[in-house]
Amino acid sequence: MNIAFIGLGNMGAPMARNLIKAGHQLNLFDLNQSVLAELAQLGGRVAASPKAAAEGAELVITMLPAAAHVRSVWLGEDGVLAGIGRGIPAVDCSTIDPQTAREVAAAAAKQGVAMADAPVSGGTGGAQAGTLTFMVGASAELFATLQPVLAQMGRNIVHCGEVGTGQIAKICNNLLLGISMIGVSEAMALGDALGIDTQVLAGIINSSTGRCWSSDTYNPWPGVIETAPASRGYTGGFGAELMLKDLGLATEAARQAHQPVVLGAVAQQLYQAMSQRGEGGKDFSAIVNSYRKPQ
Ligand code: NAD
Repeated sequence: MNIAFIGLGNMGAPMARNLIKAGHQLNLFDLNQSVLAELAQLGGRVAASPKAAAEGAELVITMLPAAAHVRSVWLGEDGVLAGIGRGIPAVDCSTIDPQTAREVAAAAAKQGVAMADAPVSGGTGGAQAGTLTFMVGASAELFATLQPVLAQMGRNIVHCGEVGTGQIAKICNNLLLGISMIGVSEAMALGDALGIDTQVLAGIINSSTGRCWSSDTYNPWPGVIETAPASRGYTGGFGAELMLKDLGLATEAARQAHQPVVLGAVAQQLYQAMSQRGEGGKDFSAIVNSYRKPQ
């Protein structure tokens, strides 16, 4: 299949590599020339704009940082919608607000283009291994068209409902993740301050009612889970800045819906303080340091 792929960063580049490996012809566009050169060596064709990439493509995929980039790449003068053919399926995999996802899809629909939102979880490791989870907001028909291609980049391809619902699933999950990591941090730090061995405490939590992914897989206390970022200086995981972005999306969506997200707002402020301390590049589980005496 001839696929346009736009946005080849930490996530997009490995996803595009997996599509090339699966035998697709890729039309590539990014602002970063070096990643384009690298993917061209694997057989990708470099395009001069999102419009040029979309021309002649049988499917368009984008993976961009935030809503402003998605608007400009899709709706701009040299954007995807200026080049894409009628009836061509399209999907944006960026994490953005549900409202923008719906607006861009509505603009696409006016041109006879069915567009889905399909944000991912699984991080850069999942993008490289082709084991991402895709949360797809699309009509049943579009989902059926996209599913086989998304399955070449991911393991779980979940149909969440109509367009926009993929983003809703993603931001609700990450809202909970951001909060649960703080909850586990608070409990672990209290236990340590009161004098219990943190391994023993984690063992109790993980076989009791406090157990969650933030405690049993990604525990923020160093040494509790060998494979967690906490055990390697909070490097190589899910950066606090990305968590902050997702909490911003959740609290803004909540504001628009007049829905309280009390703990989400507090969590957002705690990660913001972490960012202010210059720790935004660390894994988000380093939030535990907010509760610890300086080491
Ligand atoms: P990134 O910043 O590494 O990559 C974004 C790419 O988009 C860059 O190569 C940049 O040059 C390109 N770009 C920006 N503006 C452009 C434009 N106008 N035209 C063409 N290309 C443009 O970001 P990432 O880590 O790959 O994340 C992409 C999306 O996936 C984000 O929405 C992020 O929230 C989400 N996400 C990231 C992770 C993660 O662990 N990195 C996990 C899940 C979801």
